[in-house]
Amino acid sequence: MPEKVIIIGSGPAAWTAAIYAARAELKPLLFEGAITQENQENGTLPLGQLALTTEVENYPGFPTGDLSAYLDSAIAPPQRKALPPHKKEGVSGPELMELMRQQAKNFGTRVTTDDIVEVDFDRRPFRLTASDGSQHQSLAVIVATGARANYLGLPSEQRLKNRGVSACAVCDGALPRFRDKPLVVVGGGDSAVEEADYLAKFASKVYMVHRRDELRASKIMAKRAMEHPKIEILWSRVVDEVLGNDEEGVTGCRLRSTRGEGEQELEISGFFLAIGHTPNTAFLRGKLAMNDAGYIRWTTPQRTYTSVEGVFAAGDVADDYYRQAVTAAGTGCMAALDAERWLAAQQA
Ligand code: NAP
Repeated sequence: MPEKVIIIGSGPAAWTAAIYAARAELKPLLFEGAITQENQENGTLPLGQLALTTEVENYPGFPTGDLSAYLDSAIAPPQRKALPPHKKEGVSGPELMELMRQQAKNFGTRVTTDDIVEVDFDRRPFRLTASDGSQHQSLAVIVATGARANYLGLPSEQRLKNRGVSACAVCDGALPRFRDKPLVVVGGGDSAVEEADYLAKFASKVYMVHRRDELRASKIMAKRAMEHPKIEILWSRVVDEVLGNDEEGVTGCRLRSTRGEGEQELEISGFFLAIGHTPNTAFLRGKLAMNDAGYIRWTTPQRTYTSVEGVFAAGDVADDYYRQAVTAAGTGCMAALDAERWLAAQQA
């Protein structure tokens, strides 16, 4: 017997889709991804990008407060034990993801810790192959594999991740460690300007480090950055090293001029990347319509339909614009409702 719905992914979109699908008695089977060295290096471990962040202050329903007792009662012991200690400051990214995972399981979602590596959407039921070689058939599929932030690939950047290195200013920028301190944003696109502008609300100064002498950002955004009293653009510079240590986190960075103007060291407390994201869609190439950057195309306004009927997409894998946990959860809910209604229409 084929599954009614298979969900691929384990971020807010996937767990919300699972909660809704399970409550609609679709008995979802969810592939949360595999725990492998390769996935660790790519930033695609189970529980997605939120598992790589610290405090989450912008997800509604989790104001500042001590959630320890609730976490103890709500999350299954093996997962609870594996979490870092609760910090009495609302919810952390990993805690939020474990709570969503547990909520999905409470309603009967079956969770498999493996990656789907191949799909056949030409036949119905659809066929999916996991990395352990197992084959699965399903009437409907929800793809919620998310996207991963691009990093420069420097060892020092990797070492200081979550210690002042971040690829999400909206997630992390308001943390106390960045308040009234000088910060760096790397990149020259709209995201870099948006992040610099956002960070400038808290920081004493924001340096935008861009590898060329012209911003990629739209004219209006570029003007905003150039005219902002707290933002200084450092043109034609690349980052050679992020400086810092385990105790203090990021303390600086070393830049190199691409025009032969030598090196420069900046004293900073935060190092933010805004050099684009990569959607986790390699295994879907040629199977679903995507945009040039590899994001899945939603084919109908206000719906999570993809180019293949019966396959739905939710969260960052189809959204290169909002990219927030709460918007991902919203489209996860939509995908489950779309799948439920589509399955009902097939039987009618
Ligand atoms: P993007 O437009 O692709 O810009 C990425 C920036 O990072 C570019 O300036 C690029 O430099 C730089 N970069 C890439 N790889 C790099 C590397 N290895 N080292 C140093 N710099 C590197 O990405 P985005 O800014 O995230 O925007 C994505 C999409 O969302 C765009 O379509 C954008 O318009 C849209 N967006 C819109 C808004 C808004 O309207 N409010 C806000 C955010 C995003 P080069 O310029 O030299 O290539």
